[in-house]
Amino acid sequence: MASHHQSAPGTIIVGAGLAGLACALDLTRAGQRVTLLEASDAVGGRMRTDRREGFRLDRGFQVFNTFYPQVKRRLDLRELRLRPFTPGLLAHTPTGPVRLTDPTRRPREAGNLLPGRALGAGDLAALAALTARDTLLPVRALTRGQDRTTARALARSGLSQDTVDNLLRPFLSGVFLETGLETSARFFHLVLRSMARGTLCLPSDGIGSVPAQLAGGLPTGVLRLETPVEAVTGDGVLLADGREEPAAAVVVATDARTAARLLPGLAVPDGRTVTTYYHATDTPPLHEPTLVTDSTLAVLNTCVLTEAARTYAPPGTALVSTSVLGGDPPGAEAAVRRRLAELYGADTASWTLIAAYTIPDALPAMRPPWPLSRTTRHAPGRYVCGDHRATGSVQGALASGTRAAREVLADPAHR
Ligand SMILES: Cc1cc2nc3c(=O)[nH]c(=O)nc-3n(C[C@H](O)[C@H](O)[C@H](O)COP(=O)(O)OP(=O)(O)OC[C@H]3O[C@@H](n4cnc5c(N)ncnc54)[C@H](O)[C@@H]3O)c2cc1C
Repeated sequence: MASHHQSAPGTIIVGAGLAGLACALDLTRAGQRVTLLEASDAVGGRMRTDRREGFRLDRGFQVFNTFYPQVKRRLDLRELRLRPFTPGLLAHTPTGPVRLTDPTRRPREAGNLLPGRALGAGDLAALAALTARDTLLPVRALTRGQDRTTARALARSGLSQDTVDNLLRPFLSGVFLETGLETSARFFHLVLRSMARGTLCLPSDGIGSVPAQLAGGLPTGVLRLETPVEAVTGDGVLLADGREEPAAAVVVATDARTAARLLPGLAVPDGRTVTTYYHATDTPPLHEPTLVTDSTLAVLNTCVLTEAARTYAPPGTALVSTSVLGGDPPGAEAAVRRRLAELYGADTASWTLIAAYTIPDALPAMRPPWPLSRTTRHAPGRYVCGDHRATGSVQGALASGTRAAREVLADPAHR
């Protein structure tokens, strides 16, 4: 069988982000002949880490959740040397900072949530019921039925508008990369479940070590970096350097915008844009690895990364990450720095801006009704996968790549 596949044109996968890597791993394990073509100089796509002057700078702040089924199935978590965040949030509200903790994990701090401290009794009961439902019910039960916006789902849950606006909207805006809570409630319920059951972490070597570990499992010769694909043709793909590569099957595992260019007729969702600023300072403005949110929505979230992972900055330096919606127009960083001074109660004027990353199309806009998984079949022998075909998350991208491999293998032409 191996020699048969040596001569037969195999499967070309375009894009070595999480989806392309998962697809390549499953197809090679099934004995298929696979070539994974990646345009850039490393794997990872939207999950990459730059190293600069002793800093580890993720290309846009993101957290790694240990609860995702695909993560448990595919990754060696010990090797990633994960550094956890505190379960919960420090939420800045119009009446001051509130610590929102999971009482099942931090019983001593749950007093912050007592009626009258942060939440009224009605809000407390509604939040507990929502969390218990999303944590305990099977996924099927959470995602069946008519989809709606997250705003609508929260309104129906019995939470007051104040609690939504001061606690949930600020946090979820950082997850969805939009402030209107117009994202699918199906996705929201899965996010709440994974937050409550999993642990938010940073890999010690940066978020890019996740795709790097996956790529390490590929047989030699499968991955070709700096090989951008210009077009998908009738026979395979046309590379940007003009060469043609024949393939029996082509899986497009790029970002949504490129996928729509390579596969004419493919409908893709809009994207959400985010900017992350990294500031260095001698003194950490907060001595704990906690995500801080802002009810004014001036910033989506901020945290002292080095309180979670010391490896993110040179010794004696604290690295603060702050994300905002959209791009980085003139004056934006100065406004962020002013808001950080208020949020941390610290003098931020002396902080050094290490880098600002604007990530266009960081996530797909997941408006309801949003199917949590779509077929990857586009045309005979042509497949498309990526987070835009599932959910904008590590889990979604890996699951979509898994599905693409399954659908390629199910096609009699590729057996
Ligand atoms: C700032 C930010 C924060 C996030 N936060 C979280 C979070 O906290 N939790 C979470 O679960 N998820 C988060 N995500 C989402 C998660 O990172 C993505 O859903 C996932 O990485 C997408 O993987 P993908 O394989 O679908 O696409 P991509 O990562 O976009 O991979 C596509 C690959 O295709 C390559 N490519 C493109 N065009 C071509 C071409 N013509 N030829 C060859 N190769 C090509 C690209 O270079 C890239 O490597 C975040 C994403 C961002 C950007």
